[in-house]
Amino acid sequence: MKYISTRGQMEPIEFQDAVMTGLAPDGGLLLPQELPDVGNKLEAWSKLSYTELAFEVIRLFATDIPDADLKQLIDDSYATFEHPEVCPSVDVGDFQILELFHGPTLAFKDVALQFLGNLFAYILEKRGGKLNILGATSGDTGSAAIHGVRGKPNINIFIMHPEGRTSPLQEKQMTSVLDANVFNLAVDGSFDDCQNIMKTTFGDVPFKTEHSLGSVNSVNWARVLAQTVYYFYAAFRTLEKTGASTVQFSVPTGNFGDILAGYLAQQMGLPVSKLILATNENDILTRFFNTGEYSKAQAVPTISPSMDIQVASNFERYLYFKVGKDAAKLVDLMNDFKDKGVLKVALNETGVVDDLFAAGRGDTASTLETIKRYKEQYGYVLDPHTAVGVYVAEKFRSPESPTICLATAHPAKFTQAIIDAIGEAVHHPTLDALEHAETRCETIANDVDLVKQYLVEHI
Ligand SMILES: *Cc1c(COP(=O)(O)O)cnc(C)c1O
Repeated sequence: MKYISTRGQMEPIEFQDAVMTGLAPDGGLLLPQELPDVGNKLEAWSKLSYTELAFEVIRLFATDIPDADLKQLIDDSYATFEHPEVCPSVDVGDFQILELFHGPTLAFKDVALQFLGNLFAYILEKRGGKLNILGATSGDTGSAAIHGVRGKPNINIFIMHPEGRTSPLQEKQMTSVLDANVFNLAVDGSFDDCQNIMKTTFGDVPFKTEHSLGSVNSVNWARVLAQTVYYFYAAFRTLEKTGASTVQFSVPTGNFGDILAGYLAQQMGLPVSKLILATNENDILTRFFNTGEYSKAQAVPTISPSMDIQVASNFERYLYFKVGKDAAKLVDLMNDFKDKGVLKVALNETGVVDDLFAAGRGDTASTLETIKRYKEQYGYVLDPHTAVGVYVAEKFRSPESPTICLATAHPAKFTQAIIDAIGEAVHHPTLDALEHAETRCETIANDVDLVKQYLVEHI
């Protein structure tokens, strides 16, 4: 399987190169040259365990990794999950809740980043060389990335967070990782300052090359690929439980990475009747699917912070399919967006962008109300991100097609929102254990040159 750029200006490359490249040199995102049709495999796949299924799905895309090696990579990646099914589904009211939070940091990003960490280490070992990951985080992604690469040979990770501005729990999830290859930097500034330092450092191409800098951002193809697996796995469980012939998925969305994985699974032949896209007040994607207009607005902070995103980094991959894989058309649209802050696509006969998608938003009040209601009615506590997805899913229930709601984080990660919703905190032993954990973190001024100097001294 070869990979191309959405912007059409790159010679096709192999899977391992796609993983190491991240963003294409023409500024586009990488996609497989064609999606395999797996319709005739679904019956056999429905009998597999999570890791067996992950192997069958991923091997179709990672054709330059020998089967035995890939199997080992997948087994290692999901051995860190505390549930035997890795990503189990549970019955809650009318919905199946797909729990994606049984990994080391209790959020769905572990599903992709545990795999990506092992994949990086594997590729570096075979090819030689080192990777120094630099990232900026306001919370969730940083800790999942750190846990994905901790202790791995040939990899260092440097994660900047704004000092005193991430939740104490999320900060501890990062700074309690004491492996020698993990460096936490508390920057005396805001999250935007951290991002600016990162952009400036990556923009210094000689520096970036000399020090083998890389990132783990959500456009990496391996992350999307790892996420397609649970769509298959969860659909099989629900189809056998209910006897239905199709399912719907509800996905709380920020960067469009998670829901894109569901879209690709559907395109490959999984019987998905609807993808319900749920956003919080930061609703650029909801507005797009309902009006055809993708227009930037100012991001506002909410109680589902991992969805506080206005420009969705994976959206371009969907748009590429939407314009019939016409790279020139895609480039025009992306240029419109860059120049005018808005791009437009035509609506279809039914007055929406795409009949496969239904989109809605849940604000803070509906999120809190949903958490409270599910606790009272079903004794199940949703995290604020999951609650946005459940709230929106309630508007799009279907009598024939059962709905699977993706639960993207454990509620214990978001103490204040949960207390606001149900009047008490929820606990998880992994997080409780952090209270007395030893931590390591360096405080650093908001200064690119100092950060670069720190990198050089610690690489
Ligand atoms: C990252 C994240 C999301 C959003 O996922 P995208 O792939 O960015 O759409 C939702 N919930 C949680 C808990 C997350 O960490």
